[in-house]
Amino acid sequence: MKLITEEKEYLNSVREFCQKEIYPNISKWEKQGNVDDSLFQKAGTLGYLGLQHPEEYGGSNASFLLSILAQKEVAKVHGSSFFTLGASAGLFGYPIKYFGTESQKEKYLPPIIRGKKIGCLAVTEPEAGSDVMACKSKVYHKNGKLVLSGSKTFITNAPIADYAIVLAQYHSDANKGLTHFIVDLHQNGVTRGEPMKKMGLKASPTGELFFDEVELTEDCILGKVGAGFRQTMQAFNLERLSLSTWCVGVMEAAYEEAKQYAKIRKTFGKPIYRHPPVAELLAEMALLLMASKNWLVTTANLMDELLQQGKAIFAASSDCAALKLFCSRNAREVTNLAVQIFGGAGYLEESTVCRLYQDIRLAEIGGGTNEIQKQIIARGVIQDKFLDL
Ligand SMILES: Cc1cc2nc3c(=O)[nH]c(=O)nc-3n(C[C@H](O)[C@H](O)[C@H](O)COP(=O)(O)OP(=O)(O)OC[C@H]3O[C@@H](n4cnc5c(N)ncnc54)[C@H](O)[C@@H]3O)c2cc1C
Repeated sequence: MKLITEEKEYLNSVREFCQKEIYPNISKWEKQGNVDDSLFQKAGTLGYLGLQHPEEYGGSNASFLLSILAQKEVAKVHGSSFFTLGASAGLFGYPIKYFGTESQKEKYLPPIIRGKKIGCLAVTEPEAGSDVMACKSKVYHKNGKLVLSGSKTFITNAPIADYAIVLAQYHSDANKGLTHFIVDLHQNGVTRGEPMKKMGLKASPTGELFFDEVELTEDCILGKVGAGFRQTMQAFNLERLSLSTWCVGVMEAAYEEAKQYAKIRKTFGKPIYRHPPVAELLAEMALLLMASKNWLVTTANLMDELLQQGKAIFAASSDCAALKLFCSRNAREVTNLAVQIFGGAGYLEESTVCRLYQDIRLAEIGGGTNEIQKQIIARGVIQDKFLDL
């Protein structure tokens, strides 16, 4: 992996940050259902939230490779921190970066990158998950004003966010169709549901948003009217690289935990790793981790090459879908094997492998389910769209 000294030092500082600012708080945050707000500001100061944002707004314009390696460090320590920070800087931040006007970038990116404000991306609705086009939320004119009505569900950061990018149906004079709107969530007409109680990622708040004729201004349209579906797919494309990074971080953590435990836990008078079936489980874990990690790095390098060639990074959609499918399946199996190696101790809520196992289940659902990834992959096969083949 080609990293310059400065980048290696940065990764060390992210590791230290995780040990000092995240690790000691995990248990408290998991119980309270969210990370402390101050984590956003601290991650902002570290430069973590601005890694892939332009320098003029406070980011560092880092490569995909450096970004995934930094994100992997956070993922390895605490999935919820990874998720809640990522939803703000990535799910909210990247569409602003790629589709926003100059004034939208100036207004929203600096506070998100510094961790002073929190963002989210609100696409999913009760009747529109995989079927994004079934979105019913709508923006229309009422008494000469532009208003938003509808509801969103399963939104990461909904209970704590200041801003949302909301996907809604919109008919303007010039165009019509699904469109992205930037919405201030502290406005009249916005209400939030109670944070949802989930299987895992307990400190990453997830919830509903309700919009009752929320007044919008014309300059809150993000990108083009009618381009909301395409923009959403492009945002999900980057999200899939990010989710794959999370999977690899989780696999590394589960593998390390299981390896250490297999050395100290003794049965029948010897450490359990000396029982061939347990050694085989460790070998299986190493295999799945290595294959996933190598492919993740390959894909990040591919994205960096595309960027250098001035080509749209969105071109790698089949590659990112395949990577997410592969890494999420492997992460489920690796965490499952880690629980197995821990025996009864792995079934206890207080164990790290238990948290990793519960958290990672989302990877096969979020950012588009794995069934939907297979459709994208199949399209890539037929249309020869894989860049890495
Ligand atoms: C913790 C969490 C955080 C989330 N964060 C966000 C967020 O920040 N923003 C956001 O907008 N959304 C978010 N989501 C929503 C997530 O993206 C959706 O849950 C996901 O896209 C699946 O949609 P659904 O739940 O409606 O499932 P459905 O679409 O109802 O699917 C149900 C099942 O049917 C399968 N299926 C559906 N259609 C097809 C088909 N055509 N072919 C084959 N199989 C099919 C699916 O694969 C799945 O197995 C989050 C969800 C969770 C649980």
